[in-house]
Amino acid sequence: MKMLLAGSWVDRDKTIEVRDPFDNSVIDTVPRASAADVETALAAAVKGFEAARKMAVYERAQVLLKTAAIVQGRLEEFAVTIAREGSKTIREARKEARRCVNTLTISAEEAKRISGETIPFDSFPGGEKRVGYYQRVPIGVVLAITPFNDPLNLVAHKLGPAIAAGDSVVLKPATVTPLSALKLTEAFVEAGLPPLVLQTLTGHGAEIGDALVADPRVRMISFTGGLDAGQRITTLAGIKKIGMELGSNSPVIVWNDADVRWAAESCVSGAFWAAGQNCIGVQRIYVHKDVYAAFRDGMVEATAKYKIGDKMKEETDMGPMITEGEAKRVERWIAEAKQAGAKVLIGGGRTGALMQPTVLEGVPKTATIHREEVFGPTVNLYPVATVEEALAEANSLPFGLHAALFTRDVDTAFKLALGLDAGGVMINDSTDYRLDSMPFGGIKNSGLGREGVKFSLQEMTEPKVICFYLPTM
Ligand code: NAP
Repeated sequence: MKMLLAGSWVDRDKTIEVRDPFDNSVIDTVPRASAADVETALAAAVKGFEAARKMAVYERAQVLLKTAAIVQGRLEEFAVTIAREGSKTIREARKEARRCVNTLTISAEEAKRISGETIPFDSFPGGEKRVGYYQRVPIGVVLAITPFNDPLNLVAHKLGPAIAAGDSVVLKPATVTPLSALKLTEAFVEAGLPPLVLQTLTGHGAEIGDALVADPRVRMISFTGGLDAGQRITTLAGIKKIGMELGSNSPVIVWNDADVRWAAESCVSGAFWAAGQNCIGVQRIYVHKDVYAAFRDGMVEATAKYKIGDKMKEETDMGPMITEGEAKRVERWIAEAKQAGAKVLIGGGRTGALMQPTVLEGVPKTATIHREEVFGPTVNLYPVATVEEALAEANSLPFGLHAALFTRDVDTAFKLALGLDAGGVMINDSTDYRLDSMPFGGIKNSGLGREGVKFSLQEMTEPKVICFYLPTM
């Protein structure tokens, strides 16, 4: 596929191969953007902003709704692209494509709700004879950088609100999964988005990232990805707004009055969705000691039923990791934990990029698989005795995107929900739940700011005060 630069679809001599991680076959190639392309994109985006801010709100909403309709009309094509270039099974990919339609539709709706309020200037002496208000205005050029694990809907979470706000965008999708982003870009163009409002640059973050991030023409960076890249970006950004949607190591607490069978089923799905490559995937489960054995058996039983293999087959529950290298990393982390005394209850094996869904217990706190974000299909179980212990353990790491708990008791639910340090707490479901209109984001090393269309719109606009002085009044 070509990339969209300064209103044209362009090729480059240097290309990047996009491979299916299941069989390593080449699906397509994309241009490898250069420093010169970065300059062209930024200059075009500055002009594009002038066009974007002039679009009436109803025009922005129309483009967004039309793009949503195009994606809806080609849902299976989008799903196949997601499934082939990434890790998701075709069923997981269909869900993502449907969510992309929601995200764009919500963006169109929220575009019409951007508003300000009047300001009571005469609340203090000196403010008499003044009337005015503030309105929210678009922020300018938004640099959107997206990860591989939701290659379509996380792009929609940046393009939707930015276009609703009246901003222009330079999008840099993940190098391993650029095709879904390019297809969505095509849909925006087909829907009538004015030329130059959107540039989609395909290229390596390591090569073109610094120049994009540090450029003063960019007014906001909306980044979703890992902590290392996030840290580099915040260091280089200079004076501009930054939204950071980073990773986590999500805890779940299962209490002694919970529906243990449901908790196990929900946690298995939450741990192994997208082969565990999910920022809100379940990684640590703290189980009340009275129900530990029953929950552990439930987890092993539900994991044993998981079908892994060919992503394109309807019956497959879990596909490969994004690369064999990533699967090998997870295998190493499991080996390190085993060496330190952990027990593999089920799974642990690997064939190429296919990592078996794995359940561990007895994982020491020093193990990498306990401390760091695993971003793979493994989950750790730990018995706990008191609410205080469960909370202390769940909150012990420097992450906080989602947390979850299972209990039938309302007091326990409130105590745990209020005590868990996270951007969102799910009760009687795993951490792996997100509605595209809810505020979404993390605390600690999990991020800065919130997405979820209405909340992204706050970040991608800024208040502007209009004040009339009326001395003759
Ligand atoms: P990643 O390696 O950090 O890459 C994310 C994006 O950043 C890619 O487009 C990448 O480009 C780009 N990038 C890398 N280095 C850069 C630099 N120096 N300057 C500018 N851009 C740079 O993350 P990933 O492996 O794709 O995704 C997994 C991570 O994302 C996990 O930690 C996961 O938890 C997190 N995530 C968070 C959320 C959330 O909403 N909180 C959602 C999904 C995923 P290249 O591909 O060219 O390297």
